[in-house]
Amino acid sequence: MNFQSNRIGQIPPYLFAEINKKKEKMMKAGVNIIDLGIGDPDLPTPKHIIDKLVEETKDPKNLKYPSFVGCTEFKQAVANFYWRQYQVKLDPDTEVLALIGSKEGIAHIVPTLIDPGDYVLVPDPSYPVYRMATLLANGQYYNMPMLKETDFKPDLHAIPAKILSEAKLMFLNYPGNPTSATVDVEFFNEAVEFSRKHNIPIAHDSAYNMVTFDGYKAPSILEVEGAKDLAVEFGSLSKTYNMTGFRIGYVVGNKNIIKALSIYKSNTDTGQLTPIQKAAAFALNSDQSCIAKHNKIYKERKTVMLEGLKTIGVEVSPPKGSFFIWAPVPTGYTSAGFVSSVMEQTGVILTPGNAFGPSGEGYFRISLSVPNERLYEAVNRIKEKLKIVIA
Ligand SMILES: *Cc1c(COP(=O)(O)O)cnc(C)c1O
Repeated sequence: MNFQSNRIGQIPPYLFAEINKKKEKMMKAGVNIIDLGIGDPDLPTPKHIIDKLVEETKDPKNLKYPSFVGCTEFKQAVANFYWRQYQVKLDPDTEVLALIGSKEGIAHIVPTLIDPGDYVLVPDPSYPVYRMATLLANGQYYNMPMLKETDFKPDLHAIPAKILSEAKLMFLNYPGNPTSATVDVEFFNEAVEFSRKHNIPIAHDSAYNMVTFDGYKAPSILEVEGAKDLAVEFGSLSKTYNMTGFRIGYVVGNKNIIKALSIYKSNTDTGQLTPIQKAAAFALNSDQSCIAKHNKIYKERKTVMLEGLKTIGVEVSPPKGSFFIWAPVPTGYTSAGFVSSVMEQTGVILTPGNAFGPSGEGYFRISLSVPNERLYEAVNRIKEKLKIVIA
């Protein structure tokens, strides 16, 4: 017997769960795996944040049901961050909502804003949650191709009029996962203008807002004048402070959308543990030097990997954001073919580009989540075992 809804039946297996199954099998067989697949930072959470978590956990009143919308300290800390980083003013009571990791809010904003049959505009390739949440809400997604020729930005004017008239939400994500593409505020200006014209709210996912290099500063969509009329921005502590397991993020911007999402959430979850929120507030409010320290490490790894890729004939210009490298597969391979050859022959795990959408075909994603020595080792194994002929 198979008890599941049609909605669940149409969801393809979670990509990383599949890869993990294969990985566990190979580990059991004694293969020395180098996992450049999943986007979970290997660097530790800074000590001052953990100390704060421990301290707050000792107060019994912090272990009661938390506030539905997030504790005041956390929401205020997010507002402080927006002012400090972007000179954007936020009202912590109406324009900030705490999330149980940004993934939670990204998934729940879809049924908050769309009805069955409505369209959601999603970048292609992109974080799979945008698409899967749409299917779970009985919506339809429209893939906006993100191609190298357009610097991995969607061509908004290529979206058919019929789709636009039925679209109730557009996702954007910069610095981008998996493309590592970055934009300047001018792009957000265009997106906001477009969305105003077509009456489509924007949800910008800024999970990698602070993972940037070479002096590049990632803009917030809320820097655009009037953006709060129609946009929200998701943010996360996960990648900025290596807090993926804490499950704490936020959404900021348009009041009505935030109110609607809080109605959805108050009937679904009861918020994140208060000590986690307080530790996150502390992370946002205290010394930020850990961010530069982490980015310096990613930058070194990126340089190592880009040099290594050159030696197998794969040329990528250095990305200015995220800890990913989005690289074209060597000549003669498909994404899936290359990734599974590499995995089987070398024990190096990569992510096939098409897993993020059809326009990801021809690419693979490298996550810079292991130390330099392992990156050298990964490239050497690929070079030796695959005998890739440089065109
Ligand atoms: C990691 C990631 C998230 C989820 O972050 P959490 O706050 O840990 O849920 C959201 N969007 C993108 C693009 C990500 O890569």
